[in-house]
Amino acid sequence: MTTQQVDVGIIGSGIAGASLAAALANTGLRVALLDRRQGPLDTARGDHIQPNLQPVLARWGVLDRLQAAGAEQRVGTRWFDATGAHIVTVPVPEHEHCAPSFLFLNHEHIGDILLARACEGDATNIDAISEWSLERSEGAWRIAWESEAQSGVVTCTVLVGADGTASAVRHRLNIGLSRHRYQYPIAVLYGRQQAVPTLRTLDVYLAQQRMVSMIPRTGGDTKVGFPVAVDELPFWRTEPTAALKQRLAEWCPQVEFESLEFGAVYPPVSQQSEAYDGEGAVALIGDARHAMHPARSMGMNTCFRVADQLAGLLGTLKPGFSEREALPLLSQFEAQFSEELSPRLAENHAAGLQMDTVDGDGFAALTAQLSAAAADPDILQVMALKAAGLR
Ligand SMILES: Cc1cc2nc3c(=O)[nH]c(=O)nc-3n(C[C@H](O)[C@H](O)[C@H](O)COP(=O)(O)OP(=O)(O)OC[C@H]3O[C@@H](n4cnc5c(N)ncnc54)[C@H](O)[C@@H]3O)c2cc1C
Repeated sequence: MTTQQVDVGIIGSGIAGASLAAALANTGLRVALLDRRQGPLDTARGDHIQPNLQPVLARWGVLDRLQAAGAEQRVGTRWFDATGAHIVTVPVPEHEHCAPSFLFLNHEHIGDILLARACEGDATNIDAISEWSLERSEGAWRIAWESEAQSGVVTCTVLVGADGTASAVRHRLNIGLSRHRYQYPIAVLYGRQQAVPTLRTLDVYLAQQRMVSMIPRTGGDTKVGFPVAVDELPFWRTEPTAALKQRLAEWCPQVEFESLEFGAVYPPVSQQSEAYDGEGAVALIGDARHAMHPARSMGMNTCFRVADQLAGLLGTLKPGFSEREALPLLSQFEAQFSEELSPRLAENHAAGLQMDTVDGDGFAALTAQLSAAAADPDILQVMALKAAGLR
């Protein structure tokens, strides 16, 4: 059995947990990550890094590595109407606090790079755990864990729950939650379009019935996402490529796919956990704290933002800090969360509701808003700043 005493114990080594550990890598604080996962992260998830968060990733020492691993650039978002006509392109704004483009790389590679950076900074990564228990012990948290090969105890001053939407940390500590389950699951397909432009864009089609997003993947591939009714699922799961291509061509007449295959289906939720108000130092981050509809591509990016804020506060402490020293910083973290993130989450939820239909009737109101933006540089600039993460 191994025993370890650390300053920060993180349950969950997905993007949120790995980001926090990477952000703490130069602080001298002792960090342990614990995860039940045995393999890579799910490739379908967040893969586009907003321009304003790239300076943050550079500060953590991971931006160069993402680029070396093959991350590519996206220059903006194009919107099309139900006939396939272009409505507007939302560009990446020129701004001193952001990169000139979005950066994209498969989700699991982003996670691996963050985790490697964290471990270089001496974080311990314990994965494939089958069981863990949590108890209070002399002003700290005691996490007893087991895996097939070994068992151990990690004692930490600050406990961070980064264990995703169904967070066991939240559950075990009885932390409250508000949740909206969207009506329609999101289907994800992978394919390759006939023509792949050199300058990649994320393309959203306001098809007659639903909103279809064509999201660039590295190497010229595309991830396609759209809401589906439950009775349509057998079609997408079992029909051959030719039928999938034909259905997509009916929705998006201008787009032709060379190859196309079904990937996965996700039930989107918008949920926010309350701040922890029990005994001890605890914070929830990532989907455990703020899961959101993927309509605006913000979930992973919000993980980076929140991890950076928490690391900025905890990083002011010295290794071996006490719970008493950490508690005011966690209160500050929660206040910052409410002030800065709650409005963004509300806006993302509104976008999720807009996409949550399989009978959009051509999205007349949204098309009109986008046409107005196309005609007004000021509106377009605001949209560009928001997409880049600057507002
Ligand atoms: C289809 C889809 C598309 C998306 N697209 C985008 C996008 O384009 N842009 C964007 O920014 N975001 C996107 N997101 C959201 C983004 O992927 C998530 O917000 C982000 O990955 C959440 O990371 P996380 O680390 O909080 O959670 P997770 O990735 O869920 O990681 C949680 C970790 O905790 C571990 N864990 C869970 N329970 C336990 C337990 N009981 N004990 C121990 N370990 C546990 C898991 O094994 C996992 O490794 C998308 C999501 C989906 C589903």
